[in-house]
Amino acid sequence: MSEMKNQVKQIVSLSKMPMRQRHLLKQICRLADERDLAVYLVGGVVRDLLLKRENWDLDLTVEGDGVVFARLVADRYRAGLAVFERFATARLTFPDGLKMDIATTRRESYAQPALLPTVQPASIEEDLYRRDFTINAMAVQLNSGQFGRLLDPYGGQRDLLARTIRVLHEGSFQDDPTRIFRAIRFEQRFGFHLERATLGLLAQAASTNLIQRLSGPRLQNEILLLFAERDPARAIVRLAQLKLFRFLHRRLRYTNKVKRTVTAVPKALAWWVSRFQDSVIDRPIVYLMALSSEASQAVVTTMIRRLALSREQARKVSAGGRLVDRALKRLTKEGTVRGSQIFRLLEDFSDEALVLLLAKQVSKQQGVRLSLLRRRLTAYIKNRTTKTVLTGRDLQALGLQPGPQYKTILGKLLDARIDGVVTTEAEEWAFVRKWLG
Ligand code: ATP
Repeated sequence: MSEMKNQVKQIVSLSKMPMRQRHLLKQICRLADERDLAVYLVGGVVRDLLLKRENWDLDLTVEGDGVVFARLVADRYRAGLAVFERFATARLTFPDGLKMDIATTRRESYAQPALLPTVQPASIEEDLYRRDFTINAMAVQLNSGQFGRLLDPYGGQRDLLARTIRVLHEGSFQDDPTRIFRAIRFEQRFGFHLERATLGLLAQAASTNLIQRLSGPRLQNEILLLFAERDPARAIVRLAQLKLFRFLHRRLRYTNKVKRTVTAVPKALAWWVSRFQDSVIDRPIVYLMALSSEASQAVVTTMIRRLALSREQARKVSAGGRLVDRALKRLTKEGTVRGSQIFRLLEDFSDEALVLLLAKQVSKQQGVRLSLLRRRLTAYIKNRTTKTVLTGRDLQALGLQPGPQYKTILGKLLDARIDGVVTTEAEEWAFVRKWLG
């Protein structure tokens, strides 16, 4: 802290921040000034302000009681409030949808490694000391007279300039192994490097079974955040280098084939997104599918359980293996295939599985087959919206007893529509009558 006092006062400009956010911060400072509370902008947003990267997260921390202050702000500005007592934090949602987190400056103690810490109020310097890396351990004061003052007690700016990720103390990864994944995330995102001692500590922590102790949701969160980065392929290589895949499953291997598939995902995604704007793809899940695409079903199932994936995510990931390969084989064979055959082949696939299928073909570098596949996928997506005019009610009107045959008949009718065998309502009626003999 004495180091802090010797620092030359440095002001960080918030002028690039959108008006609305800046205005809100000013108002809130006034409120804090009235109560004689010191309030700071902290963490990633300060780092990104200094890096001149856009990030308008309003992460505030208050020396005093952050939750009491958050209530005051919520009352004054009619914001919605959610309080997380355990971590002495609150989230505000303003009427225009803007969100703000307000915390109490605190110190953390880890009763057991890898479990969530207990927290106690503390000074801003101690609050910064509990953070993951020096580049994330800076604050900007918001009180008037001090507005924009940078607090950097642990050399965050020095490390930003040196493009370095550095932990604040030796026990950091032990306390919280999620920092292992966070380190890789920031390293890859910014093209920084891990400082030598930090890399040693990380490798040491990764070689133990600490990560095993993380709960499923916490591990899932880190993995999916990593795969949500702009270019996850590099982070995946890093995970492999550091032998971290064993924490998803000890038999998960990053083979050359898997590597080729993972590397082909961006190209497959780019094509997909440019063609099918209505399709919303869960990108991190595509990467997880690519990563486990050569693993056995048993390995994938255990991995899904370890990561505590949601039912929807689990459904997608578990259908990413053999089935995709089988469909790919059929879809890249020359010769005539009816639209309805492709439709039936793919109808149970999630869009993520289709992107994976495409990535697998991209990785094979066979241009002609890739074009064929793209044409067939385009036709399939178009056919997905094809509907029959007739419904079960019409079959009932024909005197047909409701039962499983409804599905069969309407299925055949849809196939006929897709293949252009029937094109009008009259033809549909004729088709059904003929089918019923
Ligand atoms: P991003 O740009 O990915 O959101 P961020 O740095 O804002 O990065 P958050 O996860 O939003 O990341 O966390 C906000 C801040 O909280 C971090 O900058 C860091 O100071 C602190 N923090 C978050 N997670 C940890 C952790 N596991 N250990 C220590 N400090 C953490």
